[in-house]
Amino acid sequence: MAGGGRGAGESALTQDEAVARSAVISDVHYEVELDLTTGDRTFGTRTVAGFHASSSDTVVHLDFVGEVESVECNGRRSGPDAFDGRRVRLDVREGWNSVRVSGSASYSHTGEGLHHFRDPLDGNVYVHTKFEPFAAHTVFACFDQPDLKATVDLTLMVDPSWVAVSNTDPEEPPPSGGHRATWRFARTPPLPTYLVAFAAGPFRVLRSRHRDVPLALYARPSLYDELNAEAPELFDVLGRGLDFYETLFDLPYQFAKYDHVFAPEYAFGGMEHPGCVTLNERFLFRHRVTEDARRRRASLLTHEMAHMWFGDYVTMRWWDDLWLNEAFATMLAVVAQPEATPYGEGWTSFAHHDLPLARRADQLPTSHAIRVSTADTDAARSNFGPIVYRRGAAVLHDLAERVGWENFVAGVRAYLRTHAWGNAGLDDFVAALRRFSDADLDRWVDEWLLRPGINTVEVCRDAGGARVVQNADPRVEPRHLAVRVAAFDYRGVELVPRTPVDVSVDPPACEHGLTELGGTEPDLVIPNADAVSHVKTRLDSRSRQAALRSLSTVDDPRARAVVWGALWDEVQDARLSARSYASAVLAHGTRERDVGVLEALLERASRAALVYGDPATGHDTVTVLARSLREHLVCADGGSDRQLAFARALVGVVPPDDHGLLGDVVCGRSPWAGLEVDRDLRWRALLRLAATGGDVDDLVDVAMDADPGDYGRRNALTAEAACPSPAAKDKAWTRLFSGDHSLAERQAIMAGLRRPGQETLLTPFVDRYWHALESLAGTAETEFLSSFARALYPCFTEVEESVLEETDRFLERKPLPESVLKVIREERAELLVIRAARACDAADAQH
Ligand SMILES: [Zn+2]
Repeated sequence: MAGGGRGAGESALTQDEAVARSAVISDVHYEVELDLTTGDRTFGTRTVAGFHASSSDTVVHLDFVGEVESVECNGRRSGPDAFDGRRVRLDVREGWNSVRVSGSASYSHTGEGLHHFRDPLDGNVYVHTKFEPFAAHTVFACFDQPDLKATVDLTLMVDPSWVAVSNTDPEEPPPSGGHRATWRFARTPPLPTYLVAFAAGPFRVLRSRHRDVPLALYARPSLYDELNAEAPELFDVLGRGLDFYETLFDLPYQFAKYDHVFAPEYAFGGMEHPGCVTLNERFLFRHRVTEDARRRRASLLTHEMAHMWFGDYVTMRWWDDLWLNEAFATMLAVVAQPEATPYGEGWTSFAHHDLPLARRADQLPTSHAIRVSTADTDAARSNFGPIVYRRGAAVLHDLAERVGWENFVAGVRAYLRTHAWGNAGLDDFVAALRRFSDADLDRWVDEWLLRPGINTVEVCRDAGGARVVQNADPRVEPRHLAVRVAAFDYRGVELVPRTPVDVSVDPPACEHGLTELGGTEPDLVIPNADAVSHVKTRLDSRSRQAALRSLSTVDDPRARAVVWGALWDEVQDARLSARSYASAVLAHGTRERDVGVLEALLERASRAALVYGDPATGHDTVTVLARSLREHLVCADGGSDRQLAFARALVGVVPPDDHGLLGDVVCGRSPWAGLEVDRDLRWRALLRLAATGGDVDDLVDVAMDADPGDYGRRNALTAEAACPSPAAKDKAWTRLFSGDHSLAERQAIMAGLRRPGQETLLTPFVDRYWHALESLAGTAETEFLSSFARALYPCFTEVEESVLEETDRFLERKPLPESVLKVIREERAELLVIRAARACDAADAQH
């Protein structure tokens, strides 16, 4: 694979190794000098690591992947056997040590390490780093673990036309002229290696200031217009966010500046490097977006900003406590929303967008605790998912409700002060909180942080009345729950609320009667109606009927979010047919006023129709969906966000007999007054046209003309791979394994290759998938392997039984790193969901 020989899992660091190393090493400082003028494939790297060792009896190593030219330990040159391809063995002495490692390393094309990107429009090169969880050592020799924080003096030698940006400012402007410019950055405060960052290239820069904190935004020149257009809103959120967090934590921002770099082909959404946050370019909007996209971007900015305190200032010791970074940042971004952004209260959209993903992840065979034992850095990769981020945020929110917000904040402040610039773990956080709360924190930790899985709460009705019941699931022990129950009665065609009641469900008792609601039995009962407890809500059959018939008459948006989530869970549990769900969205979801909620529901309705619908009759659902969306488009106000949301949804489900509409959109002709067809809508239409067998040969060029450059190129790769012909699929598969494609381009190809509705065409790729995984083991980067394993798992074939059997055989042999096997386990579970959901939909079709 392109990007050098970093084979999957070959250089993982175990927790035991990390613990042993940090027991001996302290006071680390790195002088790092990188020469980025030596060509497109490799760069020169030289590190001088200074550190204190408490003993000379232990073997200590520096992590490094690359070519080593020389190693000098305390003035003595080491022999060639000191480097085994991933580690440099050191003969340390007690006291101060100085080690010099010189050599070269490879650029990556996966987004991890030092990513190299060439802009196809102008040939300009941009590089940026992403080291989390374990890639700093693919750029410079270091102790690559979070609890060996170090100060860093970084020097970059780059093309003189480039701009370089890092965690700190350059000490002086680099001298101009000559073949290369030398950028020396000021010494950093103590940082874990995964937070050291830089980017370089002919970026454009916009600067501002908030009080005494300099702010800057970096982007490619081809995005400079977008940067200018978006800068006022970005700077506004940054300024308000800094004020909010400084007040909340009672602690000033600790770094000297606050920059954002929009990096091409960035692998995450964003990354919280202190002083130098890196963001995916998709947040520098190149086309029209709805207000919800702006809200989500603001949420990303405030998430990364929360890390400046949670993660950057006080850092987890090891990856098992990643929740101390990510659960906190996710939760705090929701809390910050009304204060630091124009978008108001955040928990309702969190319930709509985030909680369903957390519940899904919790029901997979790979579900794990929020604080998860993490044997090595390969396993650490699997921690970056909905359980740590989203379930983590949900249970922290619940914790804050239990102990009281004031006490929670006091505990957080004490935690940050006690561990300033250092490392901490679960026990440290609990100890800080205990000073301000007498709640049973040990029980909370045991039930919510250390116990995997999700409990289901439902209302049972029988002769004795209604009760809230915590379901007896053999895999998940019951937890102590505080649950708000909302109840509604029909008055005419509308559901009218009663006064909600708060009930506790305390094990070993797993139920609570609902006599407090009073009166006769309500028509709709919603347990956990405020979405505060992290449980799965299941509606009883009478409530479900009421919801499907009248959900839009429920006034409370949070309660509606809970019901929408419960209905979506039911589709994935094969208890509600895809067509019933889509009908509910058309009847009630289209009345949701929040455009983000509308978009999420339309997206789920489309997925229900295309993926979870019965293949034999599911096209009926698609046709009904498309027809109804057309009607909504006629009524939507020209130029409104709702019009855009309906248009995007329609373009994704246009039936094959309506290719004329899609062709018009690709050519930029808008069928809807007031809605301008932009690049994004063109590509969506082209993809649907391609996937449903339309002739796209000339239209790809039309769309590329309107959007040349790397975005257009990736979209064209997706569309071409989506075409339903054996030749197109073969071509896409060959492309995947040939040429010099970046991971982002390969992901674009894979997104087109596997499409629902193309089962016959995809069946021959089942064997190819398994063979490719076998042959890639040990040679391909883990990032590509994981993407490949997920994106091309044979979900849509005519041989599902044999796919499941082959999956089991493959998993038993364990030929790949655990983080990749985990992906395959999850995809197997999704295949089972698809099969059951399709059968449920088929059964409904016969009624
Ligand atoms: Zn984060």
